[in-house]
Amino acid sequence: MNLELSDADEAFRATVRAYFATDYPQEILRKLANGQTLEKADMVASERAMSAKGWLAPGWPQTYGGTGWTVAERFIFDEELERAGAPGVSPMGLLYVAPVIYTFGTAEQKARWLPDILSARTFWAQGYSEPEAGSDLASLRMQAVRDGDEYVVDGVKTWTSDGHHADWIFCLVRTSDEGKKQQGITFLCVDMTTPGIEVKPIITIDGGHHLNTVVFTNVRVPVENRIGDEGLGWTYNKHLLSHERTSYAHVAGKRRQLQSLRATSAETAWGDELSREGSSLRRRTAETEIELLSLEMTVFRALAPLTNGEAPGDEASILKILATENAQAISERALELAGPYAPPFFPDRHAADWRSGLEDIPAFAPPAVASYFFTRAQTIYGGATEIQKNIIARQLGL
Ligand SMILES: Cc1cc2nc3c(=O)[nH]c(=O)nc-3n(C[C@H](O)[C@H](O)[C@H](O)COP(=O)(O)OP(=O)(O)OC[C@H]3O[C@@H](n4cnc5c(N)ncnc54)[C@H](O)[C@@H]3O)c2cc1C
Repeated sequence: MNLELSDADEAFRATVRAYFATDYPQEILRKLANGQTLEKADMVASERAMSAKGWLAPGWPQTYGGTGWTVAERFIFDEELERAGAPGVSPMGLLYVAPVIYTFGTAEQKARWLPDILSARTFWAQGYSEPEAGSDLASLRMQAVRDGDEYVVDGVKTWTSDGHHADWIFCLVRTSDEGKKQQGITFLCVDMTTPGIEVKPIITIDGGHHLNTVVFTNVRVPVENRIGDEGLGWTYNKHLLSHERTSYAHVAGKRRQLQSLRATSAETAWGDELSREGSSLRRRTAETEIELLSLEMTVFRALAPLTNGEAPGDEASILKILATENAQAISERALELAGPYAPPFFPDRHAADWRSGLEDIPAFAPPAVASYFFTRAQTIYGGATEIQKNIIARQLGL
C-alpha cells in the first residue's frame, strides 16, 4: 500500500482547499465554528454550492454525475472538507439510496431521481426500522398490498433521521409472508407528500430534533416507484448497507476535533492536564489518537482497492465499529476536558448569540456535551456494534 501522494494529488489538494476557503459559503463555516445548530436551509446551501462545482457525488460513477476522481482524490476531498469545518452531506439520498438506484433502478427511475439528488433539489429519508424491527430488520411488518398499478402501504417506521426535512423516503416493505422472512421484502420509494403519511418528532437525549416516527395509513404508492423486483428488496438492502457502513469514517473531521480539543484546553483551568507528562487525560487522548491512526489505515485498506461506484465488502463492518467507537472516545475526551463546565442542560444553539448569559461556560462545553450524548447513538444506528461483530464472526467461519 503506497501512502505517498503524488505532485498531482498535492495540486488537487490545493485546489480543494482554496475552494473551501473562498467559494464555499463562508457563513456555514462561521455558524459551525460558533457552535450553532445548522438549519435545513444551510444544508441545502452547502450541498448546492458543492453541486454547482460538480463535487457533490464523488462516489458515483461518472455516467451519473460522479467526479471520476481516484480513491486518493476522494480521500483528499473528504479531508479538506472536514479540515475546513464544513458539514458532511446528508447521506440518505447521496450515499445510501443513489447507489441502489443507479445499480438496480430502471432508466426511467435513474432519470427521475438521480439529477434531483445530485443538485440537492430533493432530500431523502431511510425508512427501515420499525418499533419491532431494528437489528432483526427482516422482521419488519410494514405492509404493501398490490392494488392495480399501486401498492397500498400501512405501518410505522421509526428512528427516521431527518424525516421532517425529507422529500422522499425509501422503505423496506413486506409484500409477502411466505417463505423465509427476507424473501417477502420489497424496496419502495415514496413521495413524502403522499396523503396518509404523518411525521411525528422524537426528541433525543441531546435535546435535538433529528429523529421521527413516520406513520403510513393507506398510502398509495405507484408500482413504478418499486426498485427492482417484488420480493428482492433484501438484496438491494444489503448493497445499500455496505455503502452506509463505510460512510462513518470521517478521519479528518475526527483529527480536527482532537486538534480543537488541544486548542481549547486553554479555556479551562486544568487544560494543561492534556499535555502534562503522566496525566491520565493525556494518556487517554494519546490512545484515542492512535486508534484514529489505525482507523485511517483501515480506511485505506478497505477502500483503496475499489473503483468508483463499487460496493465494499464485509470490511465495512470493521470500519463501522472502529469509526463509531473512536467518535465516542473523542466525545468522551471533550467531556472530560469540560469537567464541571459540562452543563446539565442543552442551550438552544440556533441563534448566533446562543452563548448570551452563558459567558462563564467555555464555548466548547455545551456543544461537547450535546455531541457526547448524541454520539452514543453511533454504535446503534447503521447496524449495532454487536450485529457488526456477528457479521465479522460469520465471515471468519466462527
Ligand atoms: C440516532 C439514530 C438514528 C437512526 N436513524 C435511522 C434512520 O434514519 N432510518 C432507520 O430506518 N433507522 C434508523 N435508526 C434505527 C437503527 O437502525 C436501530 O436503532 C438499530 O438498527 C438497532 O435496532 P433497535 O433500536 O430496534 O435495537 P434492538 O435491535 O432491539 O437491539 C437492542 C440491543 O440488543 C443487541 N442485539 C440485538 N440483536 C442481537 C444479536 N442477534 N446478537 C447480539 N446482540 C444483539 C443490539 O446490539 C442492541 O445493543 C436510527 C437510530 C438512532 C439511534
